[in-house]
Amino acid sequence: MIEPFLSAIPVLKRLEDAGYEAYFVGGSVRDFLLKREIDDVDIASAATPAEVKGIFSKTVDIGIEHGTVLVLVNNESYEITTFRTESEYLDYRRPKEVAFIRSLKEDLQRRDFTMNAIAMDRNGKLIDPFDGYSAIKEKKIQTVGRASDRFQEDALRMMRAVRFVSQLSFQIEEETVKALLKLVPLLENIAVERKRAEFEKLLVGKNLRNALEIILETNLYSFLPGLNQQKKPLEEMLKFNCEGLNKNDMWTLLIYCLDITEKAIEVFLRDWRLPLKEIREIQQVFILLKKRLQQEWTLYDLFSAGRDKIISTEKLYLALTGIKETDSVDYWIHLYETLPIKQRSEMNVTGTDLMDWFNKRGGPWLKEALMKIEQKIVEGKAVNDKQKIKEMLMECNLK
Ligand code: ATP
Ligand code: MG
Repeated sequence: MIEPFLSAIPVLKRLEDAGYEAYFVGGSVRDFLLKREIDDVDIASAATPAEVKGIFSKTVDIGIEHGTVLVLVNNESYEITTFRTESEYLDYRRPKEVAFIRSLKEDLQRRDFTMNAIAMDRNGKLIDPFDGYSAIKEKKIQTVGRASDRFQEDALRMMRAVRFVSQLSFQIEEETVKALLKLVPLLENIAVERKRAEFEKLLVGKNLRNALEIILETNLYSFLPGLNQQKKPLEEMLKFNCEGLNKNDMWTLLIYCLDITEKAIEVFLRDWRLPLKEIREIQQVFILLKKRLQQEWTLYDLFSAGRDKIISTEKLYLALTGIKETDSVDYWIHLYETLPIKQRSEMNVTGTDLMDWFNKRGGPWLKEALMKIEQKIVEGKAVNDKQKIKEMLMECNLK
């Protein structure tokens, strides 16, 4: 076995020693079988949340109503979820009742796709009642049980299917596609936050192209925030090579394709419930990108953007123009590194200095003056030295 499973073995062992079955499950087992990188291991156990809390001394209730308890062992945290069934779904999204059970097989049965319904014990033995390993080998996304039933229980699973197309480059099995074609309108009932989590994983997947094609063919896009009637922009997105773009870069690219006003950008991203901080970052890169498409970077633009936004903007610029200058990001970052200052706080002149020198109170003039000095320093037209700047200003003033 490999990390991070190895470190988690003692957690399974403690549960077993206390008399409860415990397994690795879900995405971590799937990714292990696919030889993909594994972030966290998910653990499922017959122990109820209360029993889990009785076994481990440090625990956090993170989703007790779903049966999930976080335990801290050797400075690592592990999520342990009690085997459960979900019976009678309401409104195509939430189960009316979650029942804790002692049977692994029943727990695996409530999971979405066969590739996600494999358990592995601490010796590496697979428990795979739905033949998920074959599905993995065939690169096939297939629901556990009838697709139309499973999508009606929880419509988000349709988005998850498409997200896995993008992330894993798998294909959706035929019956599952049929159910998807019929049932996408049920996505209307799903909380935006859940849709966003899947959509963001989809956007950064290696096989985004295929996923987008399915989204277009099945009309799934019509049930996503702000994307109803937006077939053309999504088709436009297919044109670009998005390799190396991160999540926010992809939002920026999508916005670019939507061709909407700056005001509408905010509305669109708010509709997707993006955190305000991210919305602002995306807006800023979008503005930088529009400028970059017109002209090269100025030193002051590099300064204003900062390292991360230069990288994002330049990568987006290359993606949009199809220019294959792999070293252009390095070129501009190198130029940025040579700037005499990287932020205003590094300036050796403050607003108080200026007010003293000119014997004037604060006001719009001050902000403007500071910006001019900042720009001159960034462009190498002034030295970042208090005395020299004072002399320069006095001289300008006399003239
Ligand atoms: P990732 O690697 O992106 O985390 P994942 O498969 O682990 O993918 P999670 O959302 O972390 O996805 O879910 C963990 C597991 O829980 C899944 O592998 C699956 O077995 C089950 N699961 C998650 N969401 C659903 C759902 N909507 N319906 C049924 N089972 C689900
Ligand atoms: Mg996971």
